[in-house]
Amino acid sequence: MEREKIAKYLSEDPAGPRCRSLRPDDLAGLVAGVKSVIYTSVTGAEDAAAMDALCADLGLKKVVLGRKTRVDGNRSNVDILIGTDTRKLRAAERSYARLIGTEWGLALGYPECCVQAYVNWRNSRRRGDLVASIAANSPKGRPFSFLTNNVCNYYSLLFRPGDPKRYAALLAANPDFDLGPVIPWHPCSYSCPRSLAAGLGIYRVLVHYMPTFAAGRRAQLSKPVLFWDKFRFAVLNGTASAGPEGGLTVDCRGVAGPRTLLARGTVDELDRRSVLRFGRSGKLYGPGAPALPPGYALLPFS
Ligand SMILES: [Zn+2]
Repeated sequence: MEREKIAKYLSEDPAGPRCRSLRPDDLAGLVAGVKSVIYTSVTGAEDAAAMDALCADLGLKKVVLGRKTRVDGNRSNVDILIGTDTRKLRAAERSYARLIGTEWGLALGYPECCVQAYVNWRNSRRRGDLVASIAANSPKGRPFSFLTNNVCNYYSLLFRPGDPKRYAALLAANPDFDLGPVIPWHPCSYSCPRSLAAGLGIYRVLVHYMPTFAAGRRAQLSKPVLFWDKFRFAVLNGTASAGPEGGLTVDCRGVAGPRTLLARGTVDELDRRSVLRFGRSGKLYGPGAPALPPGYALLPFS
């Protein structure tokens, strides 16, 4: 792929060509060589023509998968695969019908450890929230890199009956907010070496072609998160650092965006604090610790 042509599509210019569903992190993953296949969609003739122009410009092949009613109720999307490697495109096409299998994630270029962890979680009977299970599988007492932050990545996570409605409510509360990740998959751990290396490759491509966008996304993903479930969490406007006795300390100036479905009273309680101290067990302690609903986990992104 030629740099000038990539720059046309990985661009901050609002007048540049746009494919509606194609995410910059996905395209950056292809440019970085981290992925060779992207799963995306087109909506309507104009969007399909823009995608065809992109594929022609960048020398990508396209496979049309067909129409599927999405979890958000949108019926006008046509799912497609684009990529550089015909063999991998065909492998992805074959596994498309079974989106939960490991073949699908591997065909899309996700690290095998992460694909396996997701499939294990999805198949477990007593699964809780995916993010909480990744946090439980991550080292304690030190910050996580922003590169693996998937808190707002709802890909493959909206499958319970109430999910589409809650997801729509979250989107409606944050119309202009960038909710995107750096890695377009779910890591097996927030310290997964393969996800961190791939994430760095994607992030460097974003910094090169879209520096302002990359800086904004990094700032958003580098904040600690107090997490109850995928629709109820608080992104804390501050920094997490190692605290006493294997715990973590968060210096914060209230709750940042996006707005989530967390109860207003909980947000107010957090907004009044400038320091939050978490013990080794992950629970808040100390004088002035806020009274919060149980079941939270601190995700110390930095
Ligand atoms: Zn992994």
